[in-house]
Formats: sequence, structure tokens, C-alpha cells
Amino acid sequence: MIRSCYVSHHCPQCSGEVVFDQGATGTRCRYCGAGLLVLGSRSMWLNFLIKPVVGVRDTAHEVTRIAMKNGWKPPLLRSVIPFYFPFYRTTGHAIKWIKGVKPGLEIHGDASEEILTRHVDLMRPAHMDLSPGLFSPGYRAQSLNLALATRENAGKAPFAPIQKDREEHSRDMEEAFFDSMPEPGLKVWEERCFRLWETNSVLFFPLLLVEIREGRQMRLLLLDAVGGSLIRQIGHEEMETLLDNLELRESRSPGETRLKLAPLMCPECAGDLDPDPSAHLRFCKACGRGWEEGAGRLRERECLWAGTRPQARDTSMIFLPFWRRHADDRELYIPAFSVRSPRLLYNLAARYYHAQFPAEPIPYENRLRIQSLPVGLPPDGADEMADVVAKTNAREQFQKKGTSQSLVLVPFRKKGPDLVEPFKGLAVPISSLEADLP
Ligand SMILES: [Zn+2]
Ligand SMILES: [Zn+2]
Repeated sequence: MIRSCYVSHHCPQCSGEVVFDQGATGTRCRYCGAGLLVLGSRSMWLNFLIKPVVGVRDTAHEVTRIAMKNGWKPPLLRSVIPFYFPFYRTTGHAIKWIKGVKPGLEIHGDASEEILTRHVDLMRPAHMDLSPGLFSPGYRAQSLNLALATRENAGKAPFAPIQKDREEHSRDMEEAFFDSMPEPGLKVWEERCFRLWETNSVLFFPLLLVEIREGRQMRLLLLDAVGGSLIRQIGHEEMETLLDNLELRESRSPGETRLKLAPLMCPECAGDLDPDPSAHLRFCKACGRGWEEGAGRLRERECLWAGTRPQARDTSMIFLPFWRRHADDRELYIPAFSVRSPRLLYNLAARYYHAQFPAEPIPYENRLRIQSLPVGLPPDGADEMADVVAKTNAREQFQKKGTSQSLVLVPFRKKGPDLVEPFKGLAVPISSLEADLP
């Protein structure tokens, strides 16, 4: 399973190599120090490739090793064709809500609820004419460096075409997403499944098609060009089909890619914005305005607060960000800060769903004073969580269309193991927060 993937790109200021996490929204160039905005990292279906570790020149060595291991006669290398094989990759969170009774209490027991969650990171072949067997590029690597799947990054190696369409892959995911969920501790009466924060990409994995002569026999080998191992031997017909497929696409790259790096500065006053890799909204350090990515550029988001001037000056106060949605004629609040698990986020979202805060524009002189936690959850991600809460807690659902959304900073004070807000005394456990408190 790939745990983290790093993407290589070029700095728009100095063209140095910038490496950042696949899901990052911001980064900093280690050569020129520029703060950079990652545009398009959350859009659907970006194309990546993994650069080969075993090149064409290293192939003879790998083939000798494989031959010795399998007890073959010393092989003679006839030809080596490097190419890229496409996999669909889907990541996200599976959430299963369960209503039922504790085992042994089936007759008189009261209903209980349970939330099961699982981080999902799945890969499936996207090319069908050649089977990579059970092989999935993620099983051996803890972390892999990804590059955008462009002709330039691919060198001379061709891309095998994507033959399975996206809809078909999405249908496969419907079940696969909920495979290997933890077992519920309840006897189930009712269950609901949700797919949250899904991202899809295509990952081109480098393979080598190797033709060898072993004694009097010809063998066609499919080699993994990262680990150098033999995936399987293939037949002549399979090879012919593969060569046709590669020929077809040789000069083409798999499609334009929308991932871009842009200098990170306030569009209003050119002030600095924090290059935090996980923030979905950044406050300008000079004018205090809040900015987020929208349609490939920075857009301002309305930012309000539920604080007072004395609270802004009080260093023991910490402001937590919430997304505020209009639902018919009332508002609902969804946490915008990151917590350690989706289950905790669900619990917090259910608790704050109808909390009312006195949200007002932040007075200018206080904008730069407030200590707040980063916005780790984008508004659409918060909508998905609100949907789960509405469908499992009998809360009314908000109207998705035509509703405006603002960010509201709500003051909290540290009390024991919790952060407590002064309005209703609702609390957030400090240990659950992903950010360190100032
Ligand atoms: Zn740079
Ligand atoms: Zn500014």
C-alpha cells in the first residue's frame, strides 16, 4: 500500500525541482524559498508516472539474476522495450453507519449506533489487453516519487493506452471501497455506507518487455522496472497486441494535466500567504483577507468571527474555523479544522450541526491578531460530512444549490483536556486535533 506519494514539479520562479505530497495545497521551493500554491491537486483524474529505477542498460543484469533463480540456461538478451502501464488509483474514506443491538441483547436491548471508518487507497489496472496479474504497483513501496505523466517525463517510453473507462472503474469501486471494513460490534438492523473525500488519479507504472533466447527457446518476460523483478512470462500473441497498442500511442502523452505551481501571494496587497501544505484557506499576513483556490487561481472567501476585541487580545484564546452553511432559514456549522480521525470529525460535526454563533465581519484591527488553527477541510469535504450527519442523525439537510458559505472563527479556551467555547460550553478534545496549539 502506498502511504504517501511525492510529486515532483518545477518551481515557476527558479525552475528548481519542487517535491510535495500528492494531496498538498501549498509548498515551498527549497532552492529560491518561494512560497508556492499547488493548483489542481484535488481535481479529478490527474495523470502521474513513476520513473523507472531499472533502465534498459540494467536489464541484462536483472535477466541473468532471474535466469539463475529459475534454473534457466544462461540467457541471451534479444530486445528490451520499456513502457508505462496505467493503473487507476482511488483514495478516500469509507464510513459505515450502523444501527443495531449489542449481541446477547437482541430481544430487550435498546438500539445503539456505531460508526466504522477506513482509509481507502486502491489500485486497479486501466489497460485490459495485457494483464499485470495480481501485480499492483503499491505493494512493496512505502513511498514513491511521482512525476506528472508528460512526454518529457516519460523519456522515450510509450504509454500503454487506458482501455477501461472511468465510469466502469467507479462502479468497481462501489463495492471495493467497503471491502475489509472493520467488523461491527453490533447485531445490525440498519446500515448506511458513505464514500468521502474521494480522489482519483491514473498512475503509470514502468514495465519492461524483454525478449530473451534461453538455449533453443525464446522467452518473453514482463519485468517491473522499479524493483527489477519478473512479473510473468507472456505469450507471442499478447506481445503482438501490446506492440500494436504501444505503436498507436507512441507519440502521445495521456492527456493534459492541470497540476500547476503558482507563486503564493495575496492578490489584493501582494502580502505573504503561509505555504502550509494542508491548508485550504490562507490568511494574508499583511491584510488578513482569507484566500482559497478556485478554478485555478486564488479567490477570496468571506471570513467572519464569533469573537470580541478583548478575546482577540487574550493570548489564551484559540479560534477554531468552522464552515457555515445556510439551510433554509437557519445556519449550520461544520468543523473546518483537521482532526485525527473521520469518526471524531463525524462526532464533532453532529455536535455542532445546529450550534448558533454570533458571526460578524472581523474588525480590521483584529484580523492580524487572532490565533487560529488551519483550515484543513475544504468546503466541499465539509459538505460531504454534513451529508453523512444529516442522513444518520435525522437532521434536516441543507440545500446544496445557491447557498453561500462563509468561514467563521469561533473562540475557544483551553480547559483541562478540552478546548471549550464560551457560547454553549461545547468542547473539542485537544488530543484529537491534527494541529499543534500555539
Ligand atoms: Zn524556486
Ligand atoms: Zn493581503
